[in-house]
Amino acid sequence: MTLSRRNLMQALGLGVAANALPSWSFAAGAAASVSGNRSEPVGGAQPGGPILLNSNENAYGPSEKVIAALQNALPAANRYAHDEYENLAEQIASLHRVRRDQVLLGCGSSEIFHMAAGAFLGAGKKLVIAAPAFEVIAHYAESSGAEVVRVPLNRLYSYDLDAMRTRANSPGLVYVCNPNNPTGTLTARKELETFIGKLPANVYVLVDEAYHHYAGASPAYASFIDHPLDDPRVIVTRTFSKIYGMAGMRLGYGIAAAQTIGQMKPYQLQLNVNTIVARAAMAALTDTEGVQAAAQRNTNDRQDFINRAQTRNFNPIPSHTNFMIMNTDHPAEGVVEHFRKNNILVGGPFPPMNTFIRISLGTPPQMDEFWRVWDLMHIEGHHH
Ligand code: PLP
Repeated sequence: MTLSRRNLMQALGLGVAANALPSWSFAAGAAASVSGNRSEPVGGAQPGGPILLNSNENAYGPSEKVIAALQNALPAANRYAHDEYENLAEQIASLHRVRRDQVLLGCGSSEIFHMAAGAFLGAGKKLVIAAPAFEVIAHYAESSGAEVVRVPLNRLYSYDLDAMRTRANSPGLVYVCNPNNPTGTLTARKELETFIGKLPANVYVLVDEAYHHYAGASPAYASFIDHPLDDPRVIVTRTFSKIYGMAGMRLGYGIAAAQTIGQMKPYQLQLNVNTIVARAAMAALTDTEGVQAAAQRNTNDRQDFINRAQTRNFNPIPSHTNFMIMNTDHPAEGVVEHFRKNNILVGGPFPPMNTFIRISLGTPPQMDEFWRVWDLMHIEGHHH
């Protein structure tokens, strides 16, 4: 880890606050509102709509090869996607060197969470999840009648695995988001292995690798697909919503032991994956150049964000994803609202990190606008 002392202090929430709290005037920012003279569209899905820095999508969209595959697939829209499902599942199996019966496709990785909740949760069972983490599976757990136990992250924003193990003392599921959303942080592979090894036999583990391609270079990280544990309790999920830029197309998948997949499959929606996205996904998986370019671009965007934050004496938590989370030293509601009034959506608050906002990395013009609106908050008083 390359945490400088300053980063660390900030990460622990001991940074700016100690000496002088900046006083921000939200009203002034709102009055200034959105600049009218943009030379290029910087918005989200719709022209004139807000800039979307709130859902960790890929701001650049799918690669050219994926767009071509999407377009080429359109005439096949009249047919059910039986063959496409099989072809894609086989391609994913061979990509990851697993058997076909270890692969399950979902309408987003969210559907894999839903299937896991159906199979391994329900009344009398327990979901153990970090706080804060990606909450979708907690909603499915609650609907199933399971108890949801939230375990705060430790002081370095990694998982407090000892506390999670203590709580995972009855049948159910542990959700491990690695890298974690909304913090962008990693939990070390070695610690996760020890953790899983000590869990009771009737507790399953879902490892969510949605941000896998952004974490690649870190020595503390290793995918549980690329380096599997021989353990039928482990389910790993991936999504096409992030690096592949296909969030709106809805596709994800799960990899697990065949018997585990077999337990989840009854909860799968019939013909849950559409023809268009399946064909585009096959192109996406072979477009390694497109993936590399997207990862490199994200590395640059991340560094640019850090530079611009540090210029302003803020230190975002080091991120292994396509978003940054940053302590603003002010209630996140107010900061999020300031951005919303200025036509930018950002994420937060994420209890218990109530002064942090999460910023999904956008295109350079979008980030220029983000920092322009940030500076409207009129930071007065000096801090260190
Ligand atoms: N898992 C995590 C940790 C996420 O942050 C997200 C999206 O924000 C997803 C999964 C995406 O789910 P889906 O594949 O359903 O789009």
